[in-house]
Amino acid sequence: MTTIKMFTQFLNKKADLLESLDPDRIYVENVRSFLNLPTKAAKLLCEMAVKQRLFKKKHGVYCPTCDRLVKSFDNLDEVDSTFECDVCRELEEPQYQFNKSEMKILTFYKLLDKIND
Ligand SMILES: [Zn+2]
Repeated sequence: MTTIKMFTQFLNKKADLLESLDPDRIYVENVRSFLNLPTKAAKLLCEMAVKQRLFKKKHGVYCPTCDRLVKSFDNLDEVDSTFECDVCRELEEPQYQFNKSEMKILTFYKLLDKIND
């Protein structure tokens, strides 16, 4: 199957996809399992969706202790050098402050409202 064909199929299934996903946080893994594709193909589809202005790429910083999404950035170079997890601080976890090398950063995609032709 060609990439274009896959992408069209993906768009056709978009309504179903969004019923089962959070449109603000779409992970390659969600797309992969939804369309039953290899990870590489799912990633390619997400990148095509970015080029088509269907998705916006985001980089999420996750707390290594509780796995919560702490903050998200448009560009990797905007990621702060340190961060604090409010939840872990409230829970009095021994570690709630992290530096860049300890952060867990995952890419996700946000669905944009309008599809430009
Ligand atoms: Zn935390």
